[in-house]
Amino acid sequence: MTTAVCFQCGHLKFGSFMPCTQCLAKPQTDNELIVSLAMSDHYFDQATLEAMGEYTKENGHPPQLDPESEKTFRRNFEEVKASGVLDQMLRERDDN
Ligand SMILES: [Zn+2]
Repeated sequence: MTTAVCFQCGHLKFGSFMPCTQCLAKPQTDNELIVSLAMSDHYFDQATLEAMGEYTKENGHPPQLDPESEKTFRRNFEEVKASGVLDQMLRERDDN
């Protein structure tokens, strides 16, 4: 399972798109989904994720990605979205 940082409270959770076990937030908007996708162990090591979680907790919002990474994440996200996989994942998530 993927370790990911909750975009709302900074808690480390399992699965980028899964509801947070701490604050129950689940990413809905494109921006929330992109930041959730980015803040996962696909891209960052555990120590970095914990630091991102701390930042999110203290500031009430996730750290800003640098523009170059943000562009890459957004492109990856658009591809996943266009493939229909995203819709299916969100549907399955919300059915549970
Ligand atoms: Zn949370």
